[in-house]
Amino acid sequence: MPQVLRVALDTPLRRLFDYLPPLAGPPPAVGARVRVPFGRQRLVGLVMGTAGGSDLPAERLKPVLEVLDAQPVLDGAAVALLEWAAAYYHHPVGEVAAVALPRALREGAPSVAREEVWSLTAAGAEALRTDAARRAPRQRALLGLLAEGFTATAGALQGRLADWRAPARALRERGWAVRGELTAAPAPSAAAVRTPGPALVAEQAQAVAAVGAALGRFGAFVLHGITGSGKTEVYLRLVEQVLARGGRALILVPEIGLTPQLVGRFRERFDTPIAVMHSGLTDHERLLAWRDAFSGQARIVIGTRSAVFAPVPQLALIVVDEEHDASFKQHEGALRYSARDLAVVRAHHAGVPVVLGSATPSLESLHNVAAGRYTRLRLQQRAARAQPPVLKLLDLRSAAVQSGIATPAVLAIERHLKEDGQVLVFINRRGYAPTLLCTGCGWVAPCRECDARLTVHQGAGRLRCHHCGADAPLPARCPVCGFAVKAVGQGTERIEEALAATFPGVSIARLDRDVVRSRGDMEAVVGRMASGEARILVGTQMVTKGHDFPNLTLVVVLNADQGLFSTDFRAPERLAQTIVQVAGRAGRGARAGEVLIQSSFPEHPLLTRLLAEGYDGFAQAALEERAQAAWPPFARLAALRDSARSAEGALAFLVEARRLAAAPRGVRLLGPVPAAMARRAGRYHAQLLLESRERSRLHDFLDGWLPAVEQLKSARAVRWSLDVDPLELF
Ligand code: ADP
Ligand code: ZN
Ligand code: ZN
Repeated sequence: MPQVLRVALDTPLRRLFDYLPPLAGPPPAVGARVRVPFGRQRLVGLVMGTAGGSDLPAERLKPVLEVLDAQPVLDGAAVALLEWAAAYYHHPVGEVAAVALPRALREGAPSVAREEVWSLTAAGAEALRTDAARRAPRQRALLGLLAEGFTATAGALQGRLADWRAPARALRERGWAVRGELTAAPAPSAAAVRTPGPALVAEQAQAVAAVGAALGRFGAFVLHGITGSGKTEVYLRLVEQVLARGGRALILVPEIGLTPQLVGRFRERFDTPIAVMHSGLTDHERLLAWRDAFSGQARIVIGTRSAVFAPVPQLALIVVDEEHDASFKQHEGALRYSARDLAVVRAHHAGVPVVLGSATPSLESLHNVAAGRYTRLRLQQRAARAQPPVLKLLDLRSAAVQSGIATPAVLAIERHLKEDGQVLVFINRRGYAPTLLCTGCGWVAPCRECDARLTVHQGAGRLRCHHCGADAPLPARCPVCGFAVKAVGQGTERIEEALAATFPGVSIARLDRDVVRSRGDMEAVVGRMASGEARILVGTQMVTKGHDFPNLTLVVVLNADQGLFSTDFRAPERLAQTIVQVAGRAGRGARAGEVLIQSSFPEHPLLTRLLAEGYDGFAQAALEERAQAAWPPFARLAALRDSARSAEGALAFLVEARRLAAAPRGVRLLGPVPAAMARRAGRYHAQLLLESRERSRLHDFLDGWLPAVEQLKSARAVRWSLDVDPLELF
């Protein structure tokens, strides 16, 4: 039997597919794409390996139709990372590969750029000599152009002769010219420092030295630096070292907001091609960025979550900025993965250091520091001689509150504005108000598809569901009793309105998902604050990320209480991170900052600990709690989730799945239970949680159990997924 190719295909089946090498031409290398027959379809797959034989009978083995890559699109390390992810997330490797490659490549686009070129045939040269095209002046002109050089690229022709395509077609029909494709060889790229950075402060220099000494081997570093302490400067210096050694760097950043600013700093510092990959790219742009990375043309690759799979030849350093950020976790769709965790695995495979930077490292990373697996590097001073802000709790029970803002906060805003400062008001809810209430009968506007209320969007005159996107006109009267309705509670839109009424003449900017529809919108808002035109910024989570407004001296956090009493064990961690991050926006310049946190529970131990001892004190207490309750990082979790048209249907599959599990050793099964918000977009959600003290126990169990779960008849009646290391529990 000839050698068999083991091919990953983008199907939900947990296996590779066997094919024979192509009938003609050389066999594909591991990591190359092939086109294969699959039932009545033709699919693009990835060669993951070869084997001496197949379980299939020889007569059923088919040869691949076409080898798409002479050079594999995945090198050995990339193939290993995909295999690791498939095993760890218990996911079909073909679907993992589909996450790793841009769509255009999955559909067969060439992995290297090709250019359309035109050249003259011998007959064409003869036609030119005899002036056979004299009655077609445009063809004649094109013949002349083609005769000037050996080949002409489409781009070059476009520049010389407008509307050249019609005459080109005519020349081809007459046999005078041929069209071809050339592989565009990337121009060799240089890497130079454009503008040197500032002299490092001692802590920065120590951090750079520590990671710098680890270049060339694996090491995981948590760069724990307060906001404004110069973490980015540390990344820049490390990248400088990497470039000087001829290596390349991969920088991962959270989903929104940060990218343009961070990319700007890298472009300012280095005179070298940078490939940028984020979710806002079109398929074609994504392909171009991928090719820049693949060819090695780009020396620096900066991207969000899925860029953890980007090809980076001579990878020498991985940085994960804001490593605690939830957007590194893909928690919907096919493969649910943590880009931060995969970054560490990738660094390990590649034998390079990985730097996890944050002002508020995740409890997982801090636990890894405590266990000696990661090294913590601290930056405790603000680099540009700015003072860390002072945090104060504002007791909502004893203060007069109007439109969600307590009087002492209003007074503080007034004072900071008078002293020419800027103010940030943070509220983690967009829209005008979270509830529309009938004052007559008590009716509350519900979403028809979800167990949720509709949010009032006053400006747009709409009621919207923030869970399923349902959208309806805002009624003036109660649809049940006809009485007047009113908006209850606050969102960014209403806070903006209230502040405008309180501070007439003061320019206010707002930053939330309703305002920011494209990248340009975000930059416009940031620009208004940076120029000083806007004095107050009202915003959601979006404002916590990366922006640096030197004149911002006051931050008001309006609703800290949301995270205090959640059923999700991670809620306190997220709340503490949000408070610290948003507080870090204050006092980035020469003047000290002030932070006011409104709460109805100012004695809550989480808040008092956070204020008294900072994030470190909080993290220590939170880790102790997690240890006692046996939550991660002291246990490993996986969630089997599903959704169905009925609540019973959703539970039925999970009940059967649980029954299949019998009584596994060292693994606890919790549930199944309906999700906290069971109905979303018309479907009922439920979850079965698996927990173990030991990672290997959990994974051994999943290995045996999932194939059986997959075979359940009830599995076909629901949509189900497995989430290993889930970030959010419901
Ligand atoms: P972080 O990423 O930790 O929030 P940045 O790297 O953005 O911090 O630095 C905060 C500010 O301090 C930036 O304006 C940066 O240019 C400046 N900065 C960083 N390091 C230094 C330094 N060693 N000397 C002077 N200014 C610095
Ligand atoms: Zn009513
Ligand atoms: Zn809804």
